Parts: sequence; C-alpha cells; structure tokens
Amino acid sequence: MRALFASDLHLSEDRPEANERLITFLEGKARSADALYLLGDLFEYWIGDDGLDESFNAVIAGFLRDLTRRGVRLSVMHGNRDFLIGERFCRETGAQLLADPTLEEINGVKTLLMHGDTLCTDDVDYQSWRATARSSAWQQQFLAQPVAERRSAILALREKSKAVIQEKPAAIMDVNRDAVREALRCHGVRRLVHGHTHRPGRHAVQVDARRCERWVLPDWYGRGGYLELARGEPRLVRF
Ligand code: MN
Repeated sequence: MRALFASDLHLSEDRPEANERLITFLEGKARSADALYLLGDLFEYWIGDDGLDESFNAVIAGFLRDLTRRGVRLSVMHGNRDFLIGERFCRETGAQLLADPTLEEINGVKTLLMHGDTLCTDDVDYQSWRATARSSAWQQQFLAQPVAERRSAILALREKSKAVIQEKPAAIMDVNRDAVREALRCHGVRRLVHGHTHRPGRHAVQVDARRCERWVLPDWYGRGGYLELARGEPRLVRF
C-alpha cells in the first residue's frame, strides 16, 4: 500500500501557487497512490459546507472528486481552520472524515494520525478557544448566521489570532513533548504523523522502553510537500 499524507495547505483564492501545486499533485503523484490523507487545514478557512457554492471551493472539490473517482481513497481530518467541513463536503468529494486522533494500520505499522493542534498544550488560550469552537452549541449558533456574517466573523478572528501569535514565544506554538509521549503511549504506537506546527521533519521520541518517531508534515505556505508511506522507510517529499 502506498499512502500519502499532507496537511496545512491553507488553500485560498489569494495564494494561487499553492492551488496550482495541489492540482499538479492530484493529477500526478496522488493518482498512483492507494490512499491520500489530508490531515487538517486543507483550507485557509471554512465557513461551513455551503462554502461549496463558491466557485473556488467547488473547483477544489471537483479535483478531489476526480481523484476518488479514480479509486484513490481520500481521508480528511479537521484542522483548526477548516473544522466546519461536514457531510456535504464528504459527499461531493468522495472523502471520508477522520476523527482526530485516528489510528490506522499502514503496511503493518500502527500509525497515529492527528492534525497536531491538540499536542500544543502549552498554548492554554488556544486550547480554551478550541474547546469552545468544537462545541456543538458554538457551531450551531455560528452556522445559523448568514454566509456573509460568518465570513467576516472568521476574517476578524484570523486578524485577531495573527496579532496574538506575534506576541507568543515560538516554543508555545510547538508541540508539548509530554503530550506527544502521552499520545504515543496511550495508543501503543511507535509512529505518529501530524501537521499544524509548520516544522516539518522526523523526530525521534523515546517512550518508556520504545523508540518512536514523529513525522511532521510541511505547510504549503512555503514549498509544500507530503509524506509517503510505502514499503520501506517513510519519505518526506518537498516540492
Ligand atoms: Mn493547523
């Protein structure tokens, strides 16, 4: 089995390079894979599935649909930007929505998949906002608003978050080592794949007597890329 993993594409109309890279990827490398996992923040923001009525989102969904029609299994996990992706998106693209975390067995290796934001436990303010935004009460109230109001609310939130992030020490924005160990320990796995932190690479982690590895996916603000799990060693591919 050949599985590809990407995250943090942050697609938006404003950044055509990332969109073009995705289309090239979906029409190239991804077609020969068995499965593609998008582990969160596919979109820069997602106002709800009625966002599919906008042509930009419909075009992206169409390319994903084309991939699944060719028999590639597509799995999508929520990120902190696009956690309102729902059933309609899945129906129109042929994707399945993955819970965060999800445990998958890939080529005989139990692999823990996460977006990665839940590992950033030092960022207490963010975790508190996350708990609110993931509650069904907040989501129902948010989705009940007209599209235009939702979009401006999200854009305002993003501006606010940009300002807050500038003031935060970089270490707070990275994963907490104990949270990583705890995730690997409680799921009994040696391999973790996540995105979110925009710090791509392979990290060795010692958990009790086990040697584990944490693979961090690259964001697509920069060059972008993906992780390939096939037979043999995992491979982090940069565009
Ligand atoms: Mn993220």
